[in-house]
Amino acid sequence: MKRFKLFTVIALFVMAIPCNAQLTINIRYTGAKGAAKKYVKEMEESGIADRIRAVEGCLRYDYFFPADDPEGLLLIDEWADQAALDRYHASPMMGEAAALREKYELGGRQIRRFNPLAQDARAFVQTVDFSVWPQGQPNTAYAQYFTGNSYLAPMDGGVANVTFEPGCRNNWHIHHRQVQVLICVAGRGWYQEWGKPAVQLVPGTIIEIPEGAKHWHGAAADSWMQHLTFHKDVQDGASNEWLEPVSDEQYRSVRN
Ligand code: MN
Repeated sequence: MKRFKLFTVIALFVMAIPCNAQLTINIRYTGAKGAAKKYVKEMEESGIADRIRAVEGCLRYDYFFPADDPEGLLLIDEWADQAALDRYHASPMMGEAAALREKYELGGRQIRRFNPLAQDARAFVQTVDFSVWPQGQPNTAYAQYFTGNSYLAPMDGGVANVTFEPGCRNNWHIHHRQVQVLICVAGRGWYQEWGKPAVQLVPGTIIEIPEGAKHWHGAAADSWMQHLTFHKDVQDGASNEWLEPVSDEQYRSVRN
């Protein structure tokens, strides 16, 4: 009887998976002179990895060393749903792990994200190679004006690279007395002006946002997106006016 109950519990759990947006994420890093192994050692011995595993909804957080790259590292993490992943991203461990990666100069970051709700559960939703355009740091200064997580990498020439996680977008906003230019460099996303249909952003898409136009920009629901941005025709008194968030209803109404 006990065995039957246990089996039922497991069966219910397995059956429940397709109903949840469970996420599997594979991240590859590369280092030099054994840095990847040293990084894993410190993640484990410091307890950071175990504290990540203890986050509610973390199903797995495991490191592996690839046979084809002695300096490489593969992290496989699984989350019950996006909310679980968001809990980790909001925790101090997110910054602690990033600081350790900086300490050991781990680079070549590539992320693959799998979603079992995709028609082919083996198909990864998207890949981002952060060795091409840097991910930068969590965009904490502007987080209050964003839905979801974004990252900011200031670059030379007054250009910034902004990375949006899947589903992340900024609030409706207006750039006064300046023209904002967006150049999509990775992934897929959307730009929308108030009252107009959304324009899809893919690598190579360039958008010139008219001065004073109410708009938002962000990632597609199933893809990361990176765009470079800079301002031109900047006049005296130029400013940004942040308005209401793009509601889920508004966001869903673009094709995504
Ligand atoms: Mn803008």
